[in-house]
Amino acid sequence: MNTQNKIQTEDREYIAGTYNRFPVALVSGKGSIATDINGKNYIDMSSGIAVNIFGFCDEVWQRAISEQAAKLQHTSNLFYSEPCTKLAHLLCEKTGMKKVFFSNSGAEANECAVKTARKYAADKKGEDFFTIITLKNSFHGRTISMLSATGQEHYHELFRPLTPGFVHAEPENFDEILKLTSENKTAAIMIECIQGEGGVVALSQEYVKKIADFAKENDILLIVDEVQTGNGRSGKLYSYMNYDIQPDIVSTAKGLGGGLPIGATMFGEKVQNVLGYGDHGSTFGGNPIVCAGAVSILERLDEKLLEDVRRKSKLLSETFAKFNGIEAVTGMGLMMGLKTKKDASEIVKACIENGVLCITAKDRIRLLPALNIPEDLLLKAANIIGKCCE
Ligand SMILES: *Cc1c(COP(=O)(O)O)cnc(C)c1O
Repeated sequence: MNTQNKIQTEDREYIAGTYNRFPVALVSGKGSIATDINGKNYIDMSSGIAVNIFGFCDEVWQRAISEQAAKLQHTSNLFYSEPCTKLAHLLCEKTGMKKVFFSNSGAEANECAVKTARKYAADKKGEDFFTIITLKNSFHGRTISMLSATGQEHYHELFRPLTPGFVHAEPENFDEILKLTSENKTAAIMIECIQGEGGVVALSQEYVKKIADFAKENDILLIVDEVQTGNGRSGKLYSYMNYDIQPDIVSTAKGLGGGLPIGATMFGEKVQNVLGYGDHGSTFGGNPIVCAGAVSILERLDEKLLEDVRRKSKLLSETFAKFNGIEAVTGMGLMMGLKTKKDASEIVKACIENGVLCITAKDRIRLLPALNIPEDLLLKAANIIGKCCE
């Protein structure tokens, strides 16, 4: 039995069958090149689902986490920790948000956002103002409460009863927001500016602006889920910065840690002091190694890099426009969806056989390359993907 088969067999035997994996076992990587157990190389256009912002084994990040691992790996949140404080300071400095809570994943970052919104509304308006409005076709995570927040029925089916207090509005239909807020005592509206799992669909400027203005006028909090869209992915540091809005709460995760698990919930002016002693916590949240790595990522997400993301995005769109098999390119920055004539999952399989790692979102191909992917690799991958679409 070769090693690839052995891994697949053991995986089937010992790991819960929640993932429909591609038949590839990756063993090493450098930048935007990944190598599998048989020595085959791939151009990575997925970044471990928007996680490896600077590719595999980025040297600056690697140094930051190694040095911290050699000093102190964990302290618990009962003690002060410099890397954690430094990361929070940087996040606030770069966003204008006022305070941060650290956790370990996107779902947890969103849970914290919802807890904060409910406490704010309960203090300000009364405990019956608990409803959180999210959008249909959204994705907010896998915990029972975040499944409830997620506006896609098929995620709910096997796991009822769900957490009460979440209602879902049809995206781009502002009247539905008006209707739902009149029917439900509402604490917050939570959106992804670009619906990632939902097929890489960017919300329109007008719609997002209307929601933000309405929320502000009615003292309803605006939560933006930046778990996938954040940390430079959209061509701005956070995707809401592409819209003329100021959220009250921003959650992020995936790319922030550069490959280690982290979640962050950022609080604006209004909600900065809502959570007090004992209201929330996390054993691993703000872990020094993870935070040291995240600092090394965030420090490099400057305007020059973001401009480069926007330039590469344009290059990709121009390249894809040449292929007849691609009907539409959606998304923003280096978070792109391809609507294809042929079945997207078949195309992704063909891409992988041809040495390009990409993934799907709904019926689209989803592309999330490392933000620093060299232009020649990006174009090479785009042309392979384009050909696989024909
Ligand atoms: C991935 C994702 C989540 C869940 O993040 P986990 O780290 O898997 O819990 C939540 N929201 C959005 C928009 C995501 O893309």
